[in-house]
Amino acid sequence: MSAYGKDRRERILRAAVEQGLLEPETAVLAGFIDLDGVNETVTSLRSAFPDSLRVLHAFAAKANCLVPVLQELRLSGMGCEVASAGELAQALDAGFEPARMVFDSPAKTRAELVQALSLGVAVNADSFQELSRLDEILATRRSDSRIGVRINPQVGAGSITAMSTATATSKFGIPLEDEGNRQRLLQAYRDRPWLTWVHTHVGSQGCSLDLIARGIAKAVAFAEEINDYLGRGQVTGIDIGGGLPVNFGSDETTPGFDTYAAHLRDHAPALFSGEYEIVTEFGRSVLAKNGFTAAYVEYTKTVGGRPIAITHAGAQVATRTVFAPDAWPLRIEAHDPHGRTKHSPPVPQDIAGPCCFAGDLLARNRTLPLLDAGDIVVVPDTGAYYFSTPFHYNSLPEPAVHGARLDADGRVTFQLLRPAQAVHPAPVLAGR
Ligand SMILES: *Cc1c(COP(=O)(O)O)cnc(C)c1O
Repeated sequence: MSAYGKDRRERILRAAVEQGLLEPETAVLAGFIDLDGVNETVTSLRSAFPDSLRVLHAFAAKANCLVPVLQELRLSGMGCEVASAGELAQALDAGFEPARMVFDSPAKTRAELVQALSLGVAVNADSFQELSRLDEILATRRSDSRIGVRINPQVGAGSITAMSTATATSKFGIPLEDEGNRQRLLQAYRDRPWLTWVHTHVGSQGCSLDLIARGIAKAVAFAEEINDYLGRGQVTGIDIGGGLPVNFGSDETTPGFDTYAAHLRDHAPALFSGEYEIVTEFGRSVLAKNGFTAAYVEYTKTVGGRPIAITHAGAQVATRTVFAPDAWPLRIEAHDPHGRTKHSPPVPQDIAGPCCFAGDLLARNRTLPLLDAGDIVVVPDTGAYYFSTPFHYNSLPEPAVHGARLDADGRVTFQLLRPAQAVHPAPVLAGR
């Protein structure tokens, strides 16, 4: 349970207004990350697994790829999971040792594989074709990389189809239950003594702990099957992916990493035998609740009887919520221009963003104190996958992101994690 909550958000918000990080003309939108909260969350992740096990917790960079954030996670003891050349470069910039990095992607190019293998970054092959490509590359160079295969345990979908990677027809990994695959995989391991890891990632958000644990149990059972089949302990590590769901409905951190580990113990006790090294790849659950977005209300109006607040936070920073509101609901909190919580009687209203399309709404018919022009809305739980992955609709600039730390007296100090993107006039094309 993180100590992160409404009180901490309000302290950070009020300090941000006082220190000019939010300002109605020059800084109408910003993201904030509670760096103390991040460290508490990483501590809770690490303590969920017994010290006797060899576990590398690799942060899934796509959840928040800002280099100073990755640096903070490295200093807190995490490794890093990357899924593109861009994320690989960001992780290296953040100072991760290649041996503490994992490269997963269903579309790794030859050049990306060569780079990862040369550096010693762990690689999880996503398909039989990728395994053949690895054969070709490894025929001419040696590598210190740990190499595994991503299997799809085909345990089914969670509540968000787009986030479920272990369905019968998912694009990810090699499906374990498809005709002939188990045998083909056993032979693939037999023929490649350098294939020493098994990887799975059941899905992100919307997957129950039971579903995730059943998927991981199948990966662990398959690792045991490989070693039995080969009569040697060739598989030495299991990468169990991420996907711990986040509670977007309140400040409770449920489920916690301890609950997750308890489910794993029930479903896959062999994982805790000490026989295997373990990699985890959590993203959302590490950062979501440790970040929030704050935006000024520029105007308000009443339309068809419903109050609407036009704010500066919309699809450019909350893309999934705007386009798939049922799958990705977010809370909204109403604050006055100084950042103080508003306590006026709640009324239903729409919270809109600045983008030029009618559906750019963060919330519809949401009951909260009536917002006025100049107020500030806070959108909690946006530390992962939101302001760190902006959408460039209407050429809206990427907002600044600030890290915050609270000292014992409640004083807030900020660290710039990403400057706001400048609005530049278009460059004049040569010859015009
Ligand atoms: C997205 C992803 C993760 C992280 O998922 P979260 O839900 O953010 O924990 C981990 N591993 C892989 C392979 C992924 O694609």
